[in-house]
Amino acid sequence: MRRRRMNSTSLTALLAVCSLAVSSLAAAQATKLAHTSARLQFNGSRAYQYAQDIVNCGSRWIGSQGHVCAENFLKKQFAKDTLEEDTFAANTPAGMMTMHNFIVKFPGKKSGVIVLASHYETNYPLRDIHYVGANDGAATSGLLIELANDLRGRTLDGNSVWLVFFDGEEAIQQWSDADSLYGSRHLAAKWDRDGTLKRIKAFLLVDMIGDKSLDIVRDQNSTPWLLDLVDQAAKHEGDQSYFFATTNAIEDDHLPFVERGVPCADLIDYDYGPHTFLLPDGYHHTAQDTMDKISAHSLAVVGQTILETIHLLNQK
Ligand SMILES: [Zn+2]
Repeated sequence: MRRRRMNSTSLTALLAVCSLAVSSLAAAQATKLAHTSARLQFNGSRAYQYAQDIVNCGSRWIGSQGHVCAENFLKKQFAKDTLEEDTFAANTPAGMMTMHNFIVKFPGKKSGVIVLASHYETNYPLRDIHYVGANDGAATSGLLIELANDLRGRTLDGNSVWLVFFDGEEAIQQWSDADSLYGSRHLAAKWDRDGTLKRIKAFLLVDMIGDKSLDIVRDQNSTPWLLDLVDQAAKHEGDQSYFFATTNAIEDDHLPFVERGVPCADLIDYDYGPHTFLLPDGYHHTAQDTMDKISAHSLAVVGQTILETIHLLNQK
């Protein structure tokens, strides 16, 4: 992902420090108690373990053994589900590359579709350092795998829920419109051509939300009513203090869908770790992006909020 707007405190173009606003715990608890609808429970510990399994594959840049390992891991998790592999060739600054998106479909009784998406590969320019992207790719993929445990084995009462694991989110050389978001640009165009986009009621993207110090930005490129619905869901869970205290415009895998009129929300916490002279952008895109920086609790907060958002979307 990339932030569009620069912060005046930046040391570099991609450096910003955000503040974490903390809401009243008492108010949060009151909201939680007031919310009585029966619903699914998200298991953050299991999501964390899936993220660990993906990190154990090592670096997952396109063309690496780790990338193949992560793909095999995904295929194994969804071996008994409706899994589609979306293979395509991408023209990159490093030449033509074969990339693979994965789509897992859980059918619902309504005709609409709710898409939950993440990317699973790691940054190609960082292939020479041991960069495993615990937060940037693995955490969110683990979150989606765990969400599947809540969705499979039955026909959902509301809309279908599709999980999408994007390949090629990261730039191969340097971020630009042409060098980024390869998987999402490919799939959005494909689903535009075949009419699938018309069925999508909401597209929820997760990126870098495993951070132990969770502060999800309100993304100005996302759809306001859908962000409001996520905010409402977080309030129902008593977790609104983790959401939307800061605002910025984020370029991420939702953009090709936003541009085609699909309601989208990018749930992202780009303020990752302390910002120092040596690590001006915190742990983001450094070898420090490791499992000890993320938590099962943060995954549970986002996973539970997504389940509640699905619940609210199905009532619309
Ligand atoms: Zn990244």
